[in-house]
This record gives sequence, C-alpha cells and structure tokens, in this order.
Amino acid sequence: MDKNLIGYCGLYCGACGIYQGRIKQAVENLQKVIETYGFDKIMPELAKWELSFQHYPEFEKVMDGLVKLFGECPGCVAGGGDPNCAIRECCKQKPYTMCTECSAMESCEIVKRYSPRTLTNLQKIKTVGIDKWIGEMQKKVAEGYCYLDEQTKFL
Ligand code: SF4
Ligand code: SF4
Repeated sequence: MDKNLIGYCGLYCGACGIYQGRIKQAVENLQKVIETYGFDKIMPELAKWELSFQHYPEFEKVMDGLVKLFGECPGCVAGGGDPNCAIRECCKQKPYTMCTECSAMESCEIVKRYSPRTLTNLQKIKTVGIDKWIGEMQKKVAEGYCYLDEQTKFL
C-alpha cells in the first residue's frame, strides 16, 4: 500500500496521467508516426499544401518540451506536481500529510480554489478511511483507470 502516492489534496498520483507517463507516451507515439511516414523529411514540400507545416521545427521543440517538463513525475509528496501548490504549502506548514487531518477542511478557502471534486474526494477519504480508499484507487488503476478519463477537471 503506497501512501507516498497520495497528494496533500487527496489526489492519487498513481491515477495521474503524468505519473502514468501518458504525455510521454502520446508524444512518442506521434513522433513514431511522423518518422515512419517520413513526414519530418518532407515538411518543406508539405508546407506548399498546408502552410502550418512551416512551423514544424517549433512543433518539434514543443514536443520535446512536453516530455521534458511533463514526461515523468515522482508524485506530489516527492516534490512533483505544481511547485507553487497552495494546498501542499499549507499542509507542510501545519504539518499535515493531507487536508483530511485539518479541522478547517470543509470551509477551507484554499481547497475551494481547486475543483469541487477536490473537496468531495477529501470527504470520501475521510468517510471510508485512507486504507480502503487507496485500495479502491489501486484496483481502479490496475484496471486501466486514469484521471484523464474523467470528463471534469480534478483540480
Ligand atoms: S501538488 Fe498540490 S494539487 Fe498536486 S497533488 Fe500535490 S497537493 Fe494536490
Ligand atoms: S487550511 Fe485548507 S489547505 Fe490548509 S491543511 Fe487545512 S484544509 Fe488543507
């Protein structure tokens, strides 16, 4: 049971698309398609039909940048995620391992800045208990779940 994968806000890092390497995989897949079809070698030709291809060199740099910045993440408690995250900063100052330990959680203005799902999720963790909740999350992730699959923003 890896409690180190739980963010201070109750986010389960194991279900995060960045932690799961989804961005890196998506970029690598696109690069593979481009290389396989040799598009990268004929961009000047393609640009005669589609002007946006003139910007391909910048696009390559953006893809590299995405992998560099979001290709891997060690998880929230290990320093990943938003470096300026207000929830993490507040919890660390208390110090709490999660907002569920805080008596101000229900009305916290910092938590309110994030998606309503953040508070709902924290409430669920408090209700069912951390061990049961993390077990559920691990099972979902093992079945292929990722926060990216949700239609609503988590944070
Ligand atoms: S960095 Fe902030 S928002 Fe991200 S998981 Fe950690 S506490 Fe949550
Ligand atoms: S004050 Fe808000 S952000 Fe800080 S620990 Fe409490 S609930 Fe979390």
